[in-house]
Amino acid sequence: MITQISSISEIRAHVARLRENGKRKIGFVPTMGALHQGHLSLVEASNKECDATLVSVFVNPMQFAPDEDFKKYPRELDKDSALLTQLRVDAIFCPTDEEMYPVGYQSTVDVTEITKLWEGAQRPTHFRGVTTVVLKLLLAVQPDFAYFGRKDFQQLRVIEQMVADLNVPTTIRPCPIVREADGLAMSSRNRYLSPEQRIQGVSLSRSLNATKELSNQGERDCQKLRTTMHKILEDAKVGIDYATIVDRRTLTELTTLDRPAVAIIAARVGSTRLIDNCELDAN
Ligand code: AMP
Repeated sequence: MITQISSISEIRAHVARLRENGKRKIGFVPTMGALHQGHLSLVEASNKECDATLVSVFVNPMQFAPDEDFKKYPRELDKDSALLTQLRVDAIFCPTDEEMYPVGYQSTVDVTEITKLWEGAQRPTHFRGVTTVVLKLLLAVQPDFAYFGRKDFQQLRVIEQMVADLNVPTTIRPCPIVREADGLAMSSRNRYLSPEQRIQGVSLSRSLNATKELSNQGERDCQKLRTTMHKILEDAKVGIDYATIVDRRTLTELTTLDRPAVAIIAARVGSTRLIDNCELDAN
């Protein structure tokens, strides 16, 4: 079984020992557990590049609003640990809520601009929770590289911004989206979908594929691209929170596809909220 470490002082000591033992590049994969192939692909990326890989499993209460699924979010550490045993993982950092946020805790980290858009507009306290926990985890583990999925594109941008702004000495490695055979982006929340909802959920990747296809054919009018995106989602009767084309760096909405962009979608299927995205190139 992989070593499980729940205290910050122990994970620090553990990583210090790894470095003393000649492990020069330490890789880190932060997760909320309920691991699937998307998470495992991040571990594989770290294993390729680093001498040791650590994975954290922590369902971070600060990033859930009171009406969100914090309580029902799947927690299956034994299964996660078994999955990670099949890969080369040095230790799992699985702190308790009290270890991360002891009584009297009062500090947060805010990236102020790109967090106002899209996911941030829908979930106003979400990114503060994400940046705070990610910075705490990076300070606890002090990795050379940390691996994040492009699946959560805005989250990745927010973390890159934080790491640059605060001179965090960890290199962020963005990794590709891993999908189910039918195109649905893997997510720990997919298990909430009924078979019918699962079919509806595939409309997100179909919508993105159609948009990519149109842009590859030379369509530069983002209004037209948006219309295509929306039509496919509406036909599948999912509840659209947003579906649009944005600048890949600033995340502001584009009218013309004249720079590196990303098509982003958030949509509700029943009470499950799905997000997905696809990068678009201007030439
Ligand atoms: P989570 O456990 O949902 O907080 O995700 C932990 C990390 O796994 C984040 O960097 C996610 O972007 C990444 N991730 C989740 N799903 C996927 C996926 N389908 N493909 C690639 N990365 C993913």
